[in-house]
Amino acid sequence: MKIVAVRTHLLEHRLAVPFESASMRFDRRAHVLVEIECSDGTTGWGECLGPARANAAVVATYAQWLVGADPLETEKLWAVLYNALRDQGQRGLTITALSGIDIALWDIKGKHFGVPVSTLLGGRFRNEVRAYATGSFKREGVDRVEDNAADAARYRAEGFHATKIKIGFGVEQDLAVIRAVREAIGSEMRLMIDANHGYDVLEAVDLGRRAAQYDIDWFEEPVVPEQLDAYRTVRARQPIPVAGGETWHSRWGMREPVETRAIDILQPDLCGVGGFSEARRVADMAALHGVRIVPHVWGTAVQIAAALQFMAAMVPNPVRVNPIEPILEFDRTENPFRQAIVTKPIEHVRGVVKIPDGPGLGIDIDRDALAEFRMEDA
Ligand SMILES: [Mg+2]
Repeated sequence: MKIVAVRTHLLEHRLAVPFESASMRFDRRAHVLVEIECSDGTTGWGECLGPARANAAVVATYAQWLVGADPLETEKLWAVLYNALRDQGQRGLTITALSGIDIALWDIKGKHFGVPVSTLLGGRFRNEVRAYATGSFKREGVDRVEDNAADAARYRAEGFHATKIKIGFGVEQDLAVIRAVREAIGSEMRLMIDANHGYDVLEAVDLGRRAAQYDIDWFEEPVVPEQLDAYRTVRARQPIPVAGGETWHSRWGMREPVETRAIDILQPDLCGVGGFSEARRVADMAALHGVRIVPHVWGTAVQIAAALQFMAAMVPNPVRVNPIEPILEFDRTENPFRQAIVTKPIEHVRGVVKIPDGPGLGIDIDRDALAEFRMEDA
């Protein structure tokens, strides 16, 4: 079996109501899938985190080292591709593009052997996971406090055990949102906050000290990801556990945050950290240092399926009678192609998501939906 083609599929949807995190405004959802076709007709699918067109360009650059290669040699191909762009590309788009390719190769490998990727990774510790609802961005033209509280109440009614809200728009307004959301969801449901690196150190410390009374599980990306000293200061000077990792790439990007305890919770994204091959190494490193992993997820059903396969195989740490179970980030914001591109949507039932058990990622792509949501000029 040889690789005969590497393709990308650019998908786009213009939002009815644009929304913002602290660091980015969204007026559309745009994501890129990677499709790798083999000589025996097997096709594997992956996805890249981040700018769709830019990722597609890097995937196209990598294709020259893939066509003609054996797709089962995942470790070798990862090393070849990484080395090919290493001199100018140790972080960022080179790794997110490599992630989409690596996931597609593992999908092929699973289909070839007739087992889910989780089995290839060593076995399934679980067949379902609890999901937490990610939403509560700042939406244009609506009152943020009321809007986020209403969202959170709806997630609670749908059965979610936890939700994460977006902050980083100003300490006082953010505290009003956190207070309103906590009131809306009651004391049982878990609550996390994500500043998308919108604060400086003093704001993050101030917010963390004052928000702790609302029982917050983690404070995500309090400050810009390049400044690990700032992360460590925030972690030392306010009481909420600090999380981060969606913008750090590969084992080398994760090493310093883990080894220097810049974070309590590490959030690698399968489609950003370097695919299954690299996420496995990062998870081992985190376990070695006693750092909890909660994968980041922000994409289509392909990305969700990748995260689920990985989570199925995550070794409980510690192993005990009632182990700490990984939870799935489950995006609730507007994106009609997120689940439309697979023939069987990956949905939750009362906040619980079943992990697909078919070969590879366990999903089948709906090509009509790829055509329907194809990016203009793609
Ligand atoms: Mg985040």
